[in-house]
Amino acid sequence: MEDRLKQLQAEALEKIEQAEDLKTLNDIRVAYLGKKGPITEVLRGMGKLSPEERPVIGQLANDVRAAIQVKLEEKQEKLSKLEVEQKLAAETVDVTLPGRPVRTGNHHPLTAVIEEIEDLFIGMGYTIAEGPEVEKDYYNFEALNLPKGHPARDMQDSFYITEEILLRTHTSPVQARTMEKHEGLGPVKIICPGKVYRRDNDDATHSHQFMQIEGLVVDENIRMSDLKGTLEVFAKKLFGEDRKIRLRPSFFPFTEPSVEVDVSCMCGGDGCSVCKHTGWIEILGAGMVHPNVLEMAGFDSKKYTGFAFGMGPERIAMLKYGIDDIRHFYTNDIRFLKQFNRA
Ligand SMILES: [Zn+2]
Repeated sequence: MEDRLKQLQAEALEKIEQAEDLKTLNDIRVAYLGKKGPITEVLRGMGKLSPEERPVIGQLANDVRAAIQVKLEEKQEKLSKLEVEQKLAAETVDVTLPGRPVRTGNHHPLTAVIEEIEDLFIGMGYTIAEGPEVEKDYYNFEALNLPKGHPARDMQDSFYITEEILLRTHTSPVQARTMEKHEGLGPVKIICPGKVYRRDNDDATHSHQFMQIEGLVVDENIRMSDLKGTLEVFAKKLFGEDRKIRLRPSFFPFTEPSVEVDVSCMCGGDGCSVCKHTGWIEILGAGMVHPNVLEMAGFDSKKYTGFAFGMGPERIAMLKYGIDDIRHFYTNDIRFLKQFNRA
């Protein structure tokens, strides 16, 4: 019996040593230490032994069990480690593979154009002025030489909150407010970008909400030639050094004289669909600030003169990027917006 136990131990230890995976190891455990295993069988036969032999064999059987148990645990630890190592080796991440591209946002084309125009004028010494979008009738119309009942008001129908409060129809009230703050003292040199509203039916070239950028310069000895020079620099910087501008007489209630400003077309005057075969594209309205506007804002119109201009960044962006419908700016179509990634 003693020999049988020793033989079992040697056999088990040998098999454990040779086991190559955890499953084989578990099979060995069940085979040798399980209830139907040979050691249990040996122990069952102990009844036939003499009382002197019993404790000796019992002790030996326990020792054999323990030895097998210890060896099993050792081997299990080794195999587990090995398995983890193999797993890690198999799952190695190849860091040399290119990563997935991260999609970044970009400026809205209108924001891009507005910032470009702002930068341009800041470079010429202008500051940026802003004002409320919900505006008083006084600043939106009256202070700009558009008294109640003035026919030119019809061109700028708006959304009224009350009789006296409306959504501003242009950014000109910012000019009126800024001049008022200066309390009759020049120079004033501002650029006012912002949202404006008009009661228009939306179509390819009209939107009930759009952007404007206006500029205002008030100082002593400001002349029409200053306006022309400024706009020429603006047009060349924005559209290209080869572009020219031309001024055509026009009417605005808040400027006198008033002009429409055209920039020469990229077709170079040959005529194309953009310029409707005229060689010129209208980009903004401008003029010398009307003396009434200066006086109402507290400036002495005999001492001070000024010029103002206003443009629609949508129109500028449409011309610059060849966009055919103003509604693209406001419908948030990612396929449209993605095309203006300057990064
Ligand atoms: Zn053209």
